[in-house]
Amino acid sequence: MTTRNWHETARSLTLPTQAVIGGRRVEARSGKSFTSINPATGEALAEVTEGGAVDIDLAVASARASFESGSWSRRPPAQRKTVMLRLAELMRAEMAALSAMESLDMGKLVRDASGNDVPAAINILQWHAEEADKVYDEMAPLPEGNIGMIRRVPLGVVGAVVPWNFPLNMAVWKCAPALAAGNSVVLKPAEQSPFTAIRLAELALEAGLPEGVLNVVPGFGETAGQALGRHMDVDCLAFTGSTAVGKLFLRYAGETNMKQVWLECGGKSPVIVFPDCQDLEAAADQVASGIFYNQGQVCSASSRLFVHESIEKAFLDLLLKRIPGYLPGDPLDTRSGLGAMVDANHARNVMRFIEEGGKGATLVTGGKTTSVNGKGSFIEPTIFADVRPDATIARDEIFGPVLSVIRFREEDEAIRMANDSIYGLAASIFTDDLSRAHRVSSRLNAGVVAVNVVDPVSPAVPFGGFKQSGSGRDLSRHAIEKYTALKTTWVRYRT
Ligand code: NAD
Repeated sequence: MTTRNWHETARSLTLPTQAVIGGRRVEARSGKSFTSINPATGEALAEVTEGGAVDIDLAVASARASFESGSWSRRPPAQRKTVMLRLAELMRAEMAALSAMESLDMGKLVRDASGNDVPAAINILQWHAEEADKVYDEMAPLPEGNIGMIRRVPLGVVGAVVPWNFPLNMAVWKCAPALAAGNSVVLKPAEQSPFTAIRLAELALEAGLPEGVLNVVPGFGETAGQALGRHMDVDCLAFTGSTAVGKLFLRYAGETNMKQVWLECGGKSPVIVFPDCQDLEAAADQVASGIFYNQGQVCSASSRLFVHESIEKAFLDLLLKRIPGYLPGDPLDTRSGLGAMVDANHARNVMRFIEEGGKGATLVTGGKTTSVNGKGSFIEPTIFADVRPDATIARDEIFGPVLSVIRFREEDEAIRMANDSIYGLAASIFTDDLSRAHRVSSRLNAGVVAVNVVDPVSPAVPFGGFKQSGSGRDLSRHAIEKYTALKTTWVRYRT
């Protein structure tokens, strides 16, 4: 589609703004709403229902009622698959509208939303739909006369609290495996990006998902999010977001009903470029996209570049050559290289890191806020060289388009510095030495290690972190483990 088409699509959108509870679109019981702002223009997009604890209560009650009714939880898995596949088709038919919504809501490039994010979300939904009738149970090896059935059963009511950086994907990463397993779900999207999550619930009803099985309550973290985290009738809470809030969810669960808590949290992912890497051009493409995609608002963004001293200058030059491809512009313009930051607040936080955390380092490019057509919250792609490994910009998650470059001499030194972080989400290395590729990747302390590529994602491969990057895994057959319990049933028969 052309830029003009995207602007027309955006103008003609009907933005979904109400909560979906028990199969109905509803306002908050309090009557409250909040204004959703387009970060690329600073203009109001819509008034969105502001759910609070009472609305979460209603959503959990409706999820519980649907679960107990068996309308979904006891439906044959093949039928669950059919409904979920129908949902995927409805989403595919609305791909342009969903992409424009993501772009308006949180400032991402519509080119990325339509070319990558939204199709990926649909593929992931389809993948888990297909999985619904392919989960086999086990039999224990017991003596004759005994049967020990080991089954994976749905947990009941799953709460999901997700961030704003990939709104539809994050919703699908949680909801798809939870629904495939037969659970009922209450989803709270981030306050910055509620639209596609609400639309997901509306389309799910159209696809035939029974009422109450997928409820969406837009609202703020401290109210709606906390109410879900503390709810006594929620069996499992799946969270993606910051490490600080992830820790709160552990506390909420500990102080209430000990619900299972699964966390996908922050990161400060290293990428190591070794001098034996033959294709430095390809490596530079990957490293640039690894930090600038989605304005660097990616949990697994490769924000620490460790480059061997012998190729540091050449590699920095290659990165600088890529900067013109990442210049901020109107997110609905297909030629723009970088979209808007999610909101003015977050842009200010990122600028604070650039202005204070970069002390002592050399600013190679960027470092400034900018506007597009005189409006919006945009930040230039920024690279710092000569960064000390203990500098704030090398240690804290910035969640913006800011790369810290650190040189190394020895392989061991690179591994040590890469692992020296409270996070352990992802890591990448570039090398053409097969032994080095295996040796280094086995020593990197991260949930996802990639060789000669940055941040690959597939529904077939687990995603999640070590250390304070979280617990549990999204995607792949392992995701369903989070939303099911192992249940054993003993049967004794006469021999
Ligand atoms: P955030 O932690 O501020 O918010 C995430 C969600 O938690 C939102 O829905 C928010 O409303 C809710 N929340 C906020 N405060 C809360 C509270 N006190 N109680 C209950 N809920 C609360 O994170 P964010 O700014 O939306 O997203 C950025 C963060 O998400 C980054 O740290 C990033 O690394 C992380 N992230 C991780 C992954 C992953 O898979 N590991 C993926 C995407 C984003």
